[in-house]
Amino acid sequence: MNIFKKTKEHPAAEQTETNPLDELYQKVKETLLPDHARENLIKELGRLEKMEPTVAEYGIGINYIDFMLTLPWEKMSDENLDLERAEATLDAEHMGLAHVKERVIEHLATNIMCNSKPFKILVVDDEPIALENIEYVLKKERYDVSIASNGEEALDLFEQQLFDLVVTDLKMGNISGIELLERVKQISPHTRFIITTGYATVETAVDALKKGATHYLPKPLKLDTLRQTVKEILNQKQNVHQGRGSVLCFAGPPGIGKTSVGRSIAHAFGREFVCLSMAGLNDEAELRGHRRTYVGAMPGRIMSELQRCGVKNPVFMLDEIDKIGQDFRGDPASVLLEVLDPQQNHHFLDYYVDIPFDLSQVMFITTANAVERLPGPLLDRMEIIPFSSYTMGEKKSIARDYLIPRQIEAHGLNKADLVFTEKGLESLIQGYTREAGLRSLEREVAHICRKMGRIILKKEVTLPKTIDTDEVTALLGPPKFVAETRELRVKPGVTTGLVWTEVGGQIIHVETARMKGSQNLIMTGSLGEILKESAQTALSFIRSNAEQLGLDPDFFNGHDIHIHIPAGSVPKDGPSAGITIAIALISLLSGKPARNDTALSGELTLSGQLLPVSGLREKILAAQQAGIRRVILPLKNEGTIQVLDREVREAAEIILADTVERVVEQSLVHTGTAPT
Ligand code: ADP
Repeated sequence: MNIFKKTKEHPAAEQTETNPLDELYQKVKETLLPDHARENLIKELGRLEKMEPTVAEYGIGINYIDFMLTLPWEKMSDENLDLERAEATLDAEHMGLAHVKERVIEHLATNIMCNSKPFKILVVDDEPIALENIEYVLKKERYDVSIASNGEEALDLFEQQLFDLVVTDLKMGNISGIELLERVKQISPHTRFIITTGYATVETAVDALKKGATHYLPKPLKLDTLRQTVKEILNQKQNVHQGRGSVLCFAGPPGIGKTSVGRSIAHAFGREFVCLSMAGLNDEAELRGHRRTYVGAMPGRIMSELQRCGVKNPVFMLDEIDKIGQDFRGDPASVLLEVLDPQQNHHFLDYYVDIPFDLSQVMFITTANAVERLPGPLLDRMEIIPFSSYTMGEKKSIARDYLIPRQIEAHGLNKADLVFTEKGLESLIQGYTREAGLRSLEREVAHICRKMGRIILKKEVTLPKTIDTDEVTALLGPPKFVAETRELRVKPGVTTGLVWTEVGGQIIHVETARMKGSQNLIMTGSLGEILKESAQTALSFIRSNAEQLGLDPDFFNGHDIHIHIPAGSVPKDGPSAGITIAIALISLLSGKPARNDTALSGELTLSGQLLPVSGLREKILAAQQAGIRRVILPLKNEGTIQVLDREVREAAEIILADTVERVVEQSLVHTGTAPT
């Protein structure tokens, strides 16, 4: 049947030459589309023909067809599956990140191995024309196809090699399709079978499926169905190989190169790159689209981005998936589950598109600041690659080799025009940024380049210009951040703690006060449940051990105690501030101030033991950034500390402690120990 016959018969075509439907019929004919999409569009055009062009639905229909025609149904970028080139590109575009690069390359190697292993198909049919047709269609899809004209020949071929899939006719000479299946399964149990027949009955179908056939297709074969079925079987096979975690998830604080590594992967493989932010997304329809029955219906963002990039095999980054929301409008995370599942994503259904679209060629990469917040099933689909905060040394090298040259160029200056000295760069990093990554640093470098551009144009400077500490201050104003030690006054009842947050390590101050009252423990500063429990544990420990700690056992009688952690608008939680709170209270009650050059982190038990904490790299680097020289950590963390980079271990003096008493010794200013 010629499905395009309608172009000529279309009644409006005789009246006017520029009927938009004619044009669309022509486009549908010429565009590379899978059969199911073409059939759907022809049906839609047929519907529009019967409609008055003035009705709103007509316009909606035209827009729909336009959108469908611009989707990359069959368009792919030519992929460059060269692992060495990928490695070289990642190295050239990113400094350091050795463990990240290694894991990315390993992951890509597995994908390449799975994808490049030829999928071997044996077609068996005693009808030469059918045999030839099926062979032609499957070879066109680039499968490795062999043919046999009867069961005996097929078994002979199996003696020489194994096939992943057999497409066989049911009724053939001496050996039927079912018999062939039974005999092949003995030699090669994993080979899949598609049985085709012109005499399809429910009984034979049930029999074939019972005996292990994967699919049963009636003749004459619909070639599109055959293609689709084979692709499904191939996908299933690849999933078995790739198994769990076939999607990469880059986890870590902002600005540490997650997006940029994703872009490099696309660059290395010659694929397009798409980045879609998931932050604040709480409507399922934003991802999956609205049904066309809604006024103003639109496709979801996944399909819109694919349309924009124009190919169906981009590297697609789903950014900040941990920030995805959930409310009465559905659960976008469930759409993500489908999108990231290789078993399901080859027929992804966007409600606007209304027919399945194959996402299996897309390489999805996700990013998250905190993976702890992700639902289990989603975590299961992904291989988590942690990115960690940069040290001062790494920041300097990246700035020198990547950020500064890039910004100088972006601002129309010459690389030789601006020369940052070591001290200049350090004061820029320490005085104007406080972050785990490099975003603010890049922004500040851009700021300097903009100012310099203006000065150069006004001819107020001779080039090349050296940027030292003084120039940084002259251009950017006084430093935004000063070392905490200089800021903090030494006062009993105040301690400095180290916490891990999803934007990197941070320092916090715990403040305590005691006043007349009736034994209330007041806690403020948006403290979460776990943090509140830590505070209660700390207070109970001190009350029960007051005498050993040299405190008045009745300190709580007739008094209230208030614990406050400033930055009240930022919610805080987690157990690692336990020791910081305990020391703040001991300091308050003993009147001995805590050393202002020391920060603490550790979970406290009711018996006064310190339990290990996580995020040590981030915490130590945060202490260094804040100008804190000494860090007290649980002894049980010794092993984790030993494996940290040397630069991190040397960023501060690390003191290990296993009990509150030891921490008291090391952190409070005792008579004769003047705070530095
Ligand atoms: P994220 O996606 O983790 O928030 P980005 O990828 O946007 O971070 O990185 C912020 C900036 O820092 C980008 O300009 C990026 O190129 C740069 N950058 C980060 N890490 C590196 C690195 N290791 N080498 C070179 N540039 C880097």
